[in-house]
This record gives sequence, structure tokens and C-alpha cells, in this order.
Amino acid sequence: MSSNVRTRYAPSPTGYIHIGNLRSALYEYLIARVNGGKFILRIEDTDQERLVEGAVDVIYRTLKICGLNHDEGPDIGGPYGPYIQSERKNTYLPYAEELVKNGHAYYCFCSKERLDALQEQYRAKGQVFSYDRHCLGLTEEEIKAKLEAGEPFVIRQKMPTEGITTFNDAVYGEITVDNDELEDQILIKSDGFPTYNFANVIDDHLMNITHVVRGSEYLSSTPKYNILYQAFGWEIPTYVHLPLIVKADGSKISKRKGDATFEDLVNEGYLVEAIINYLALLGWSPDSNQEIFSLKELENVFSVERISKSPSVFDMAKLRWFNGEYLRAMTLETFHEVALPWIKKGLVKDLPTLPIAKMIQPRTEVLSEIPEKLDFFNNLVEYDLEIYTHKKMKTNLENSLENLIAAVPVLESIEQWEEKNIYDSLTSLVKELEIKNGQMFWPVRIAISGQLVTPGGAIEIAEVLGKDESIRRINIAIERLRAATQS
Ligand code: GLU
Repeated sequence: MSSNVRTRYAPSPTGYIHIGNLRSALYEYLIARVNGGKFILRIEDTDQERLVEGAVDVIYRTLKICGLNHDEGPDIGGPYGPYIQSERKNTYLPYAEELVKNGHAYYCFCSKERLDALQEQYRAKGQVFSYDRHCLGLTEEEIKAKLEAGEPFVIRQKMPTEGITTFNDAVYGEITVDNDELEDQILIKSDGFPTYNFANVIDDHLMNITHVVRGSEYLSSTPKYNILYQAFGWEIPTYVHLPLIVKADGSKISKRKGDATFEDLVNEGYLVEAIINYLALLGWSPDSNQEIFSLKELENVFSVERISKSPSVFDMAKLRWFNGEYLRAMTLETFHEVALPWIKKGLVKDLPTLPIAKMIQPRTEVLSEIPEKLDFFNNLVEYDLEIYTHKKMKTNLENSLENLIAAVPVLESIEQWEEKNIYDSLTSLVKELEIKNGQMFWPVRIAISGQLVTPGGAIEIAEVLGKDESIRRINIAIERLRAATQS
């Protein structure tokens, strides 16, 4: 299916991609794909004071590793370029001038000092600042003289002071505002650059964007954009505003408050596929109970109709769950490959990594937890002997000591130190001693790991540790248990 649907991801290059921003990119991408349309990347860098070195590369890199491949953009070109707003700087002024001519905008020469003072007055009265239209009263001659004298200026949108503006949002439905609530917003700044508020309208129109998909924080500005579309006589795009992403306490996600960006999550060991899957469901739901979706599947089933308008709660526990599901679904080889850097980070000793991967795969939710879990392989730390006592396992210090003593010669006699042989030897010893499995495996696991909770069972840990080290640790346990039970 091929259609005219065109969506755009329009990030400002801030140097990082926060979660809400990536979700916008994902939904924009999916709406294009599900409709057989085009997904466009446009860089919104008109706020020259906020430019960050290398930030555009972060955007390219993120889209690429997420598989959100764009059809047009600064790096690959396309019929509507340039796709970087700063490279389109000269595009915007003529449109603003056209609005001035038609009475929909006006020059404003107010100094920063005047505006600051005005703002202060509003603040003192506890009111929200709104430009007082001081420059709307200038005569044509005055304006001409000021422009000729090279006085700095901005161009402001002249809002209607009465009536209402109504528009339809695909998610939020019909929205109506009183026009007298709309501020005469700046369209062209004194540095000649357009504001976001102006540039997004011009570019969405010039780039033939059919669906404007963005965060709901833009919902309240949308009437102003529509008044611009109307002033130009342009067709208004379909709006798809996405619900806010909030934390469990209802507050907004923000990098400044320490909330994770996309890159942070990846660095913490979350898989890109799991993040994408989670974000897909953060504000959208399928018409089935399915939870695990590949990007390819989403490209077929995503629908604007099923985007929710209530705030989406970013739930780290749920993301962890998704991540665990993705890790467990991997083949051992793939898991070993993705976990290897983390396994190596946790080991100071040279131990076999494949058995470690096999042991931890079923129990790992986030890769960054791996190093800490492996620490006991490096050193046996002093532990409380009480952990040998376990009611259900029917173990205590005395029988733990006895069974460990019996285990040593059996383990010593194993020639091929591998899982199956260790297991077989210990289970036949269990039979011979007429004890319960747990009465052997519990103390062995404690003795060789030195901790109550381990990422694997006794046999798996013994295999990784190797014969000598396992027996050495069991002998240490025997010494300590002997001393404790004698006293
Ligand atoms: N540059 C805006 C941002 O990064 C884009 C908003 C939009 O998609 O229109 O928030």
C-alpha cells in the first residue's frame, strides 16, 4: 500500500533523546509505516543559543539503532530539503512579511528592558504575561523609519481578540479555545531566526506533512498554529497529540531531575528492542492481549485510534519485565554475546563465560545487574554460618559439616570437571548416605558461594569455579563449621 501519509520526527538537537521524545519518533514512524507513507526527519535548531555540539549525531545514531529508518532527512536528502531549519533560515521571513501585509502579523520593536519591566508588572499582579500590543499602534511611517534605521525587531502574530478557535485532534477529540486567550506570539526573532511556533507550521506545510504527531504539551499552542494555517489559506494537517509520560507520582519525566534518557537506559543494560516494545505500549494498546511486539509487527498493527489520552505512567518495573523477556528469548549464544561485556566487568578471574551465561540467562532482567551477581566468583567472603541452617532443606550446622566432609573425596575423584559428572557423583553420594538432595546441595552451594542467594545452583557454580577452587572453598567451610560446632 502506498499513500500520501507523511509524518515527521522534528527533534531539537539537545544532545540526548528523552523517553517521551523517542516515543514520539516511534509513533510517527509507525503511523507512516502502517499507512504505507513516508517518515521524515527534520532537525529543529532555530534556538541557536541552545545548540549542542554533536547533538545531531546522537539523533541519527538513535534512530539507526532503534531501526526507525527515515525516508527523507538531512543525512539522506529528499525532495523537500534542506531538512535542517537553520539551513532554511531565509525561507521563513518572506512568509512572516506576507502575514504583516495581510494584517495577520506586525513588527515589534520593544526593547528587552521594556518587556522585562512588563513581565515584572504581570508577575507582581500574579498574572500570566501576555504582550500588551504596544507596537500594534505604530504608524506605517514609524515602522518604516525604524526599519530603515536598522532597529532590531521581531515579528509577532496578531491574534484575533474575539471568537473561538476549534480544532479536532485524533486523540483528544474536539478542542476549543477563546481567541482572546491567545498571545501575540513571536514568529521571527530579533536574530532573524523563526521561533519553533512559526517554523513548525511553515515546514510542516512546505514538507507536505499530513499527520503532525507530537507530545500533548503542544496541544494548547495548536490553535495559534491553526490561525496561521488559516491566514495562509493552507490545509490544516491531522493532529495526533500523544499523552504525557509521567512517573508513578504523577510528575513529569525530566533529565534534569535525573530521569533516564534513552542512552542511559541502553548503558544500564536495557535492550533496544525491549525499550521500543515498552514505549510502543506506553500510550497505545493493541486490540489483543499480546505484549511482545517486534518493530516489524508494530508496523502492521499500530493504529492512531488506539492511542490513549490519559497520561502514561513510566513504570521501570514493567520495562525490566520486558527486558527480561527479551533476554530469555535469546539463544544462549546471543545472550552470551550481549552479556559478555557485563560478565567480564564482574570477573577479575579468568573463568569460563559460556557456563556463566547459561547460568544467569534465566535470572537476568537487566544486564547491568550481572557484574555484582558474579562477585562471589572472585573472592569468597566471610559469611554468617547460620545460612547453613534451613528448615525446609532439613539442614543445620552439624549435618552440613558431615555432608561436606563426605563430599570432598567424591569431588576429588572426578576426572572430567563438568556439570553432569559433578551432579552424578553428588547424587550417588546422596543415595549412599541416605540423605535428602537438599542436605547435600544446600551446604555445597553455600560453601562454594558464601552467600544465601546465588545466580545459579550448586552444580552450575561448581562447574564455573573449577575443581580446585570449589574444593578449596568447601575445605574452608569445613574448618569453620568444625570450629563452630565444637565450641
Ligand atoms: N522541536 C520540537 C521538540 O523537540 C518538536 C515538536 C514537534 O514535533 O512539533 O519538542
